[in-house]
Amino acid sequence: MSENHLFAALAAAAPSPAKPLALLADGSSVSYGEMLALSARLAGLLAARGVKPGDRVAVQVEKSWPCLALYLATVRAGAVYLPLNTGYTLNEVRYFLGDAAPALFVCRPEIEAEASGLANELGVPCVETLGADGTGSLTTAAAAFPPTFDDVPRGPDDLAAILYTSGTTGRAKGAMLTHGNLLSNARTLKQCWRFTDQDVLIHALPLFHTHGLFVAANIVLLSGASMFFRARFDPREAIELMGRATCLMGVPTFYTRLLDQPGLTRDATAHMRLFISGSAPLLEETHRAFFERTGHAILERYGMTETCMNTSNPYEGERVAGTVGFALPGVAIRITDPSSGAELAAGEIGMVEVKGPNVTKGYWRMPEKTASEFHDGYFVTGDLGRIDARGYLSIVGRGKDLVISGGFNVYPKEVEGEIDAIEGVVESAVIGVPHPDFGEGVTAVVVPAKGASLTEQTVLEALEGRLARFKLPKRVFFVEELPRNTMGKVQKNMLRDSYKDIYRRSA
Ligand code: ATP
Ligand code: MG
Repeated sequence: MSENHLFAALAAAAPSPAKPLALLADGSSVSYGEMLALSARLAGLLAARGVKPGDRVAVQVEKSWPCLALYLATVRAGAVYLPLNTGYTLNEVRYFLGDAAPALFVCRPEIEAEASGLANELGVPCVETLGADGTGSLTTAAAAFPPTFDDVPRGPDDLAAILYTSGTTGRAKGAMLTHGNLLSNARTLKQCWRFTDQDVLIHALPLFHTHGLFVAANIVLLSGASMFFRARFDPREAIELMGRATCLMGVPTFYTRLLDQPGLTRDATAHMRLFISGSAPLLEETHRAFFERTGHAILERYGMTETCMNTSNPYEGERVAGTVGFALPGVAIRITDPSSGAELAAGEIGMVEVKGPNVTKGYWRMPEKTASEFHDGYFVTGDLGRIDARGYLSIVGRGKDLVISGGFNVYPKEVEGEIDAIEGVVESAVIGVPHPDFGEGVTAVVVPAKGASLTEQTVLEALEGRLARFKLPKRVFFVEELPRNTMGKVQKNMLRDSYKDIYRRSA
């Protein structure tokens, strides 16, 4: 069973029980033996609370090592792990609990009373608590159960998790991920990124997203490696840890924040072998600035909740800034025409489609949505991209963010690139806003550097001659910062909503 069972495969890779798995902020550490023992106790507790194979265990807690043990316990019990973003309000949680109908909801102790009320209302039979410090009714009750557990057998097509997408383009959807999906992904990434038991990862990502859980934590476990386990990313502390770590997995904002630190130098990063970025586009200038400061070329990869990882820049070989690299081994990627569905040639921009053992079975309780997102066995990612003659994929933006102005396609990323190159611009977001003459008006929202004296006119003048006329913004707005979610993704939905009336003709 160990080959196809996510937990069994991870446990089989565990080194000696005494080896530290998680190095905590207070200087203490959690060994492999402790993590596996707690996961067994928790699995015993889940079974005693009536969680049966296939049942969902919904979890909305702060990052802590017992929370990682709970993920492993759920998989051991044959149940389906369903983590929820800690930023969701109770009202949002109501939707997810109603949709997922879990057998157990594990919440933060601070919201126990409201959560219990909600559980009663929605027919969720059991609620437990787990706090940021790892204590709560869950771990207290688990102490009464033995440190060993007979893992419930599961096959590669059985669900291990349901993970809701980030909700960047609309309401979050529950992607159903199997043991086979998660294992194939972790095995491929471990190999591509050359992970061994000598590695020490800086793990400062949340555990409710594919990046922190199914990429970072699974690879560490599968490699018998260790990780600095931190609730939040602190760039100054990260630089300090780099003297003892080998790898950082981050979102692009980690890297821009590191670049703000004078302590980020070649010497400070000399012990590190790998810096990985994903979850949102890494600006080419961030890639270049990081290389100049440290001598490390950040390895950018591309994935999503529904497919875990799809591509990676090479470990050996050229890591090309502005691209997300090649399809991973076993994964097929093609670019198709969004209107006809026909496959496009190298260099042409179209819809990115993915096929492979990493791809979800579909969206939880959304058979129609699932059917509409598959095209001849390929999953339609919703992202627009192009593959160059060498096979490197570039993500041009999301299909939903494409602006069609006067019948012409405008790719926001191209316009953003030109705006970001203007002196005094920190970053920008380009959106399409309903326009009475053009259908959509190209609209730029710009974050100026402190003290920069930019105006709408200076930005437009700087763009003259750099972009075809139809790509030029009709209006430019200035904001202090762009709205982002916890994974650092710009919330273009919110921007489109804020500016939706600007071109409306007054009656
Ligand atoms: P929703 O599907 O609910 O709108 P979401 O797509 O943001 O939310 P995730 O699954 O967390 O939810 O994010 C996956 C998306 O993140 C990809 O489809 C892609 O748009 C973007 N992404 C991930 N990595 C990269 C990258 N390296 N470069 C550009 N975009 C990336
Ligand atoms: Mg998505």
